[in-house]
Amino acid sequence: AAGKLAKYRLLPAQTEDGKLIELAVNVGMPEEMREGLVDEADGVGLFRTEFLFMNADRFPDEEKQFAVYKQLAEAWQGKPIVIRTLDIGGDKELSYWDLPHEDNPFLGNRAIRLCLNERELFRTQLRAIVRASAFGTVKIMFPMISSMQEFRAAKQLTLEVMDELKGQGITFDEKLEIGIMAEVPSVIQLADRFAKEVDFFSIGTNDLVQYTLAVDRMNEKVAHLYDYFHPAVIRSIHSLIQAAHKEGKWVGMCGKMAGDPLAAPLLLGMELDEWSMDAASVTKQKFTLSRLNVQDSAKLLGDVLDLDTAEEIRQQVKAFHAARF
Ligand code: PEP
Ligand code: MG
Repeated sequence: AAGKLAKYRLLPAQTEDGKLIELAVNVGMPEEMREGLVDEADGVGLFRTEFLFMNADRFPDEEKQFAVYKQLAEAWQGKPIVIRTLDIGGDKELSYWDLPHEDNPFLGNRAIRLCLNERELFRTQLRAIVRASAFGTVKIMFPMISSMQEFRAAKQLTLEVMDELKGQGITFDEKLEIGIMAEVPSVIQLADRFAKEVDFFSIGTNDLVQYTLAVDRMNEKVAHLYDYFHPAVIRSIHSLIQAAHKEGKWVGMCGKMAGDPLAAPLLLGMELDEWSMDAASVTKQKFTLSRLNVQDSAKLLGDVLDLDTAEEIRQQVKAFHAARF
């Protein structure tokens, strides 16, 4: 099987009927930027900046962050890279920052909430990211957005940072896209509103499943309930993509679901615009896509949207898969 897959490694992702798919990688640690990865993918759909803060004994300053983002931008030679602002809190802690204990950290002061509470920290990161946009195609993405106010506040701060840089004569990409993670159910409900203001969405299924189904993504005891084939999750993803497309905005997915061959026909049927996954899934997902076509996938999606349970959906998707692989 490895031999059969190998030929897809450097090919563009394309379906059986010739549709080109934008297939990107998630990068969370410098080691994941393996040699040649740039030639295997269409860009970076999620650059997790946490490692910069976690593998350190103090907050990385603007220059340190800038150096990392700039290097990333240059390495990808103009292919789009989506840099996510700090997604700390929840399961991710910093040794040098003693945040007060929270009973429900996943519902607490994490990600964008933390950044909006710590403006200087946030501003420093935004300056570093915006400056790096002069060296490639950089997009900014905010994690854990749950309301329009949050997005507007974060965007406002980004625009202020841009003004400030301009005043200092520092160049950057003035058309830089600003988007959000769709990983909290309130964003799905307000998708039509968000779609008017954001430049793009990227669906974080890891958290979207957790928050939609009220199932802790880390708790083994409820792992059997954690399922992105749950009809509520499938509907959420579908309706978000439809709402975004109505406003001409693109939608990516950077949660684990994007790299799952079983999920691929559903995502193709929904016309997901950008698929971002761990480097280890890229070749396999290209192979999967090469065996799928848009029409059959759309038909499968239609059938699946009519089902009531995750089990039924999984079964239907498995049967579809078995007939092709
Ligand atoms: C997600 O929630 O799906 C995601 C990609 O982000 P993380 O796993 O870092 O929370
Ligand atoms: Mg997340």
